[in-house]
Amino acid sequence: MSELTGLTLAEARDRLKKKEITAHELTEAHITALEAANTALNAYIVPTPDKALDMAKASDERLGKGKGLPLDGLPLGIKDLYCTEGVRSTACSGILGDFQPVYESTVTQNLWAAGAVMLGKTNMDEFAMGSSNETSAYGSCVNPWRAAGSDKPLVPGGSSGGSASAVAARIALAATASDTGGSIRQPAAFTGTVGLKPTYGRCSRRGMIAFASSLDQAGPITRTVQDAAIMLRHMASYDPKDSTSANRKVPDYEKALSEKVKGLKIGVPKEYRIDGMSAEIDELWERGIGWYKDAGAEIIEISLPHTKYALPAYYIVAPAEASSNLARYDGVRYGARVNGKDIIDMYEETRSHGFGAEVKRRLLIGTYVLSAGYYDAYYIKAQKVRTLIQRDFNEAFGKVDAILTPATPSAAFGVGEKGGDPIEMYLNDIFTVTVNMAGLPGISVPAGRSGDGLPLGLQIIGKAFDEETVLKAGQVIEDAAGRYEAPEAWWLSETAPAKKAKVTSKTKAKTS
Ligand code: GLN
Repeated sequence: MSELTGLTLAEARDRLKKKEITAHELTEAHITALEAANTALNAYIVPTPDKALDMAKASDERLGKGKGLPLDGLPLGIKDLYCTEGVRSTACSGILGDFQPVYESTVTQNLWAAGAVMLGKTNMDEFAMGSSNETSAYGSCVNPWRAAGSDKPLVPGGSSGGSASAVAARIALAATASDTGGSIRQPAAFTGTVGLKPTYGRCSRRGMIAFASSLDQAGPITRTVQDAAIMLRHMASYDPKDSTSANRKVPDYEKALSEKVKGLKIGVPKEYRIDGMSAEIDELWERGIGWYKDAGAEIIEISLPHTKYALPAYYIVAPAEASSNLARYDGVRYGARVNGKDIIDMYEETRSHGFGAEVKRRLLIGTYVLSAGYYDAYYIKAQKVRTLIQRDFNEAFGKVDAILTPATPSAAFGVGEKGGDPIEMYLNDIFTVTVNMAGLPGISVPAGRSGDGLPLGLQIIGKAFDEETVLKAGQVIEDAAGRYEAPEAWWLSETAPAKKAKVTSKTKAKTS
């Protein structure tokens, strides 16, 4: 494997600037690594090598003239949730068929305008609904990490599983992801990468295929905290075309990393010590507390009393918004169509063949909680809970600057292991959904390993629009725990069982 793929974004940026390497070399090294890994990992569902080489060429021309842009020549993976002009964008759903957007999402547009290179579209749970990447219409993505002494395939987490797997396996320097209830932070924790979910409104949602509009937020998955700072700076912008994007200046996040944390007040919420929490996660959290004390921060016990209602409320609000957002997939406007005897039959056939089981479950729940008679009992009540959760955080942030919690209740689990009971899968989000319900920024940083050698993450939650403190505090964890370690590249020595891209032949055949 080329050492070029093992560079951080910051290192590659500096070497490109100094002309020690070219964008072409860097991109080619990634394409070669991607081709060698993707059959085993299924991290990319649409690799775009030709596009990548064209973009690298343009970068080399600019860099050659000394006119390099901030991200010139840096190869990235793009979650399939982002619309990319002329490149298939389906949110890994069969219902979008071979949909090719006629415009670019604002976030990816910002990255290209800064000179970054697109390696391809990464795998994800269908419409970002899931915590394991197993609901993708293109098959599961596999975690490059394996438990010590085992060759059992593990999930990379979800929904941004492909992005996390690609960054961990060194087939992207960094990747875009999105987080509605934990989909950046949980896969980052499962793959030993850094996942940053910014404040709601920090990045534009324009051109991101919608799941739950009041919760969805774009963010990066990277190998270091510094790289997350670099990515966020160039993903974030005020966008008049997204009425929920914030009209605020985008700070230089990298600069914040060198600020001292001495005197920083770190809150530890007692409600996150959930029943049945594994000793391993508890110890990790305690170790994290120790690192902050050593760095001169003050640890303060806080209370977020409505935490236990966050998960049930999320699983009302998110499906409700999804049922409304996904009503647009009717077989007429985008992607796949299955013909029927009349128009109603066509809608029904298209939707029943185009959506996967988990998406259908959410649409049924969402439609139910929004229906007359149940709206007040479920949806309005969940919104009230949301307000209470926000209030808990507001009160806590009167006393502390940031909050430290575990990122996930466990390390990565096996592919197919949690297929049966949806609630078991939903419990993965227990530490992350509160942040989305309150619209706050959060980061997951690799903090150690489980007993069988798998990565575990700690989460820092910050005040709205205070990503600087989140990053600065995240750096403390990285400094103490040690920077990103690469998993062993087993896919290079094994002819791994290929999990091929699959779209049901029915959907594919009738794609219009
Ligand atoms: N796992 C959560 C869900 O299934 C969160 C998904 C996300 O953040 N997109 O809804």
